[in-house]
Amino acid sequence: MSKFFSAKYAALTPYVPGEQPKDAQYIKLNTNESPFPPPASVAEAAKAEAEKLHLYSDPESALLTEKMAQVLGVERNQVLMTNGSDEALNFAFMAFCDQTHPIVFPDITYGFYSVFAALNGIPYKTVPLKEDFSVDYRDYVGIGQNIVIANPNAPTGMALSVAKIEEIVKSNPQNVVIIDEAYVDFGGESCVSLIKKYDNLLVTQTFSKSRSFAGARLGFSIGNEKLIADLNTVKYSTNPYNVNRMTAAAGYAALCETEWFKNNCAAIQEARTYTAAELKKLGFTVLDSKTNFLFAKSDKISGQKLYKKLKERGVLVRWFNAARIEDFVRITIGRKEQMDVFLCKTAEILEEEK
Ligand code: PMP
Repeated sequence: MSKFFSAKYAALTPYVPGEQPKDAQYIKLNTNESPFPPPASVAEAAKAEAEKLHLYSDPESALLTEKMAQVLGVERNQVLMTNGSDEALNFAFMAFCDQTHPIVFPDITYGFYSVFAALNGIPYKTVPLKEDFSVDYRDYVGIGQNIVIANPNAPTGMALSVAKIEEIVKSNPQNVVIIDEAYVDFGGESCVSLIKKYDNLLVTQTFSKSRSFAGARLGFSIGNEKLIADLNTVKYSTNPYNVNRMTAAAGYAALCETEWFKNNCAAIQEARTYTAAELKKLGFTVLDSKTNFLFAKSDKISGQKLYKKLKERGVLVRWFNAARIEDFVRITIGRKEQMDVFLCKTAEILEEEK
């Protein structure tokens, strides 16, 4: 730390992204990326835009926003496009939370929530997941504080129904409820339609997973037009050109690829069902996932050891050194043949442990 670093950040522990090793070729099942590149039309759209890189992007991302609103069945002023959904979440923390408006979220969830809170000086409280790792919606009903819930949750993969989300939103009318739907396209239920009924609901989604855009950085928020106007105030006070030209053009092209999108999500779900069944045959406990990853544990090997041994064999999964989940590993769903390598190496490792 330099002697110049602001005291307000001195105690900040930054978010730790999943490892992106450069030393070797791994089967990467550790950062919930899509194993499939986006369709050709997306790369073409980005390439065409590359010739205009000397010009700023449209701060409104107008064409993309219009198209996104149309796809979602909402109004244009109910959508804000962002640089990944991490930016959408940070804008929401900045806009709606402060010393006197703390935020509540599950104890086991996306690691960035506590970082955004710390970064912005926002007090936060966590609510323990149930014994079976589910979110009990009743813990949040009438809690009277801002809330963020990943639905489906990460790293568990488990989802809540829209009816339960509605109970949370309805019972906290004086607070903003942020529902992070980063993984919703893989079998979860989206609560986007509720934004027309409730002025305190903000939904965030991303192109990173189901549209294969992790490296392009594109996300969005959907909510009542007044919430979106507030987010815009924050955006225009931090980074007006938050979505670059190539990503905006690529995003528009991606939204036109309806069939590709459907097939892509279906392929991941099929590989997930297959992998979960095979892991269960190997004796793993596998949580019920509605995402592009599985959260699984074996009573024959610790999570850390399995992670290490898989890495030695060229397969990367994610292990979290955190209470209650240290026995688990999180496995991103890749292509079927990648999952077969993962399963084969896992079986080999378990055999060695006998
Ligand atoms: N929410 C959750 C629950 C996530 O796991 C992620 C991915 N790390 C994000 C949001 C942010 O993803 P992105 O910024 O790539 O849209």
